[in-house]
Amino acid sequence: MTPEQILKVLKLLKVKVPASQQRSGWVVASCPLAPFTHDGGTDIHPAFAVKKEDGDPACHCFACDFHGTLGELLIELHAFNKQHKLLEPELSAALALIEEADNAFALDLDGPDIEEVLFGPKAKPHVFPEWWLNSFPPALEIGWAHAYLASRGVPDKVATALDIRADGNERRVCFPVRDFAGRLRGLHGRAVDADTEPRYRMYCQGGSNNPEIWLGEHWIDWERPLVVVEGPIDLASVYRVYRNVATPLFANPSAPKLRRMADCLEWITLFDRGKGGDAGRLKVGKLLAKDHVIQHLEPPPGRKDPGETTLDELVQLIAKYVKLDEILID
Ligand SMILES: [Zn+2]
Repeated sequence: MTPEQILKVLKLLKVKVPASQQRSGWVVASCPLAPFTHDGGTDIHPAFAVKKEDGDPACHCFACDFHGTLGELLIELHAFNKQHKLLEPELSAALALIEEADNAFALDLDGPDIEEVLFGPKAKPHVFPEWWLNSFPPALEIGWAHAYLASRGVPDKVATALDIRADGNERRVCFPVRDFAGRLRGLHGRAVDADTEPRYRMYCQGGSNNPEIWLGEHWIDWERPLVVVEGPIDLASVYRVYRNVATPLFANPSAPKLRRMADCLEWITLFDRGKGGDAGRLKVGKLLAKDHVIQHLEPPPGRKDPGETTLDELVQLIAKYVKLDEILID
């Protein structure tokens, strides 16, 4: 879509577009999902941006973690609004504009990235080289990283199994992300210090990364129930008692990303308490309820997320639904 078309759509969605914060390549605006997914219901310091690109453009919200296309955002907005009726966005007019841009794009057969248009980004996967990963030492060998993992209740055995690394420059503990074939496709870093922004970072290598890959793809057993959590520390927590756990690495992943794991027919979501988790539960339900068995679990009272949940609480919570693995403790 052209920047003008994007602005038109945002206007139909009734969101604010501050003139002062525009960045090259992106249209910055307040998040259309804010009334439903942001704590407080507003987006005072806009954390939402739409990419100026052809077709149905990508958009990201760094407050509620929405990552998807503008078209997907509209579908999401429609679902929320049906339930809560907080807004009166002109959704059908907005959708028509996006479709028009998308169709115009699909018919442009002379574009340079035609292979990717026809076969999807999977046609040329960007694989991170192993030497690049090896420039990050194992977290257990680095004092501050080891101490942080211990403080979050991650046993050494889990740190080893997940191959957690340390980034000394940014003081992050880093989780290698491998796809179904075991190829290294990314590195996800959690900041150790409370004032480091952003708290989570998806590293790039050679200028790109692969946000569609889940953490956990390469160890998932399709025959067993899949436990889905929001973040890597949550994953490390569940991994202590149950290995068939994975995370899309966003609270609110796009529909195509969720579908990557759709071959697992039994899902147990264990998202955070609160609006972000509610959005995720709603989305998984909407997308997979027809042909999947889905169970939504929440951390016990007083625990915000599975990362804060004790071993005993975790066992109690999920033992009813899955056959636990051997427990990993130091
Ligand atoms: Zn948002």
